Amino acid sequence: MLILMNVNATEEQTQAVCKRVEELGYRPHPLPGATRCAIGITGNKGAVEADSLSQLPGVAEVIAVSKPYKLVSRDMKAEDTVVRFAGSDATVGGAELALMAGPCSVESRDQLFRVAEAVAKAGARFLRGGAFKPRTSPYAFQGMGEKGLELMAAARDAFGLLVVTEAIDHESLALVDQYADMIQIGARNMQNFALLKLAGRASKPVLLKRGMAATLEDLLMAAEYVMSEGNYNVVLCERGIRTFTDHTRNTLDVSIVPSVKKLSHLPIIVDPSHAAGARDKVAPLARAGVAVGADGLIVEVHCDPDRALSDGAQSLYPDQFAAMVESLRGIAGFVGRTMFQPHPAGEVVAK
Ligand code: PEP
Ligand code: MN
Repeated sequence: MLILMNVNATEEQTQAVCKRVEELGYRPHPLPGATRCAIGITGNKGAVEADSLSQLPGVAEVIAVSKPYKLVSRDMKAEDTVVRFAGSDATVGGAELALMAGPCSVESRDQLFRVAEAVAKAGARFLRGGAFKPRTSPYAFQGMGEKGLELMAAARDAFGLLVVTEAIDHESLALVDQYADMIQIGARNMQNFALLKLAGRASKPVLLKRGMAATLEDLLMAAEYVMSEGNYNVVLCERGIRTFTDHTRNTLDVSIVPSVKKLSHLPIIVDPSHAAGARDKVAPLARAGVAVGADGLIVEVHCDPDRALSDGAQSLYPDQFAAMVESLRGIAGFVGRTMFQPHPAGEVVAK
């Protein structure tokens, strides 16, 4: 159920409707739009008694939502969600293409700082890097843990980047929420509903990666879990799915981008690295992602990929990343996107 407020409804009227929803035993989710506010209702097992709400002052319409997801839906919010970050003008879902780059895993201070400097110079606004790694093998490198998060936070301060890093459980989520600017939920955890609920109570935006066998509806329902707990800053990520083809690690399903855009107001970015599995295919897939309308990219970069502790084969060298970014500018302009122009090193920016 969804309540659409009148264009000229007052804040008091919206609050009164939310209060009534609570009295009925449900949870209201007011989402202000460009022209009017919509209030999503969750927590109901069956149909909500619409009559008791439709007559309240300021209410324009009470709409039954037929889809299983509500808060992620365009019915709830017609205009695109733009995710913003405290202390930064970088966005995800706005006009500027969001560029996230960095190593698969944080391995050491030197490794992280070298790559962070390189991706910042090339125009990335977000530094990626896992401190908690959900690996297919229990014997593979599991990440540096909290020490890795400390290094990410230090790199943020040194290079002016926003930090996006993965949480894998209750404990790591609390730490990631504390150190990072964005909480990544990995493909393997996309349907870890307990973790999604925790992310929904966290203070930072969530980057939700598509599970390797997840449908579009599965992905939207996972995002709904996060939003239903009150965190409305969710960014979806297509990172390739399992198919019968074996010429790439995963198959990049670019068609999910326009499909998400049709059904949801949430931003969606593309991860060409985990789809490709090999660095020679990363830039072409990144270009495909931008061309199809993705709101950004998350790309693995390493200064010495042959010695990387995880995902070296798909990690770009910094100069390849910089060349990839340059090759995106034309396509970005063509699809109405702007790209961040980093200032040349040492140049003083006049205020
Ligand atoms: C990663 O970003 O390094 C990662 C593990 O990604 P995914 O969850 O998409 O496999
Ligand atoms: Mn990786």
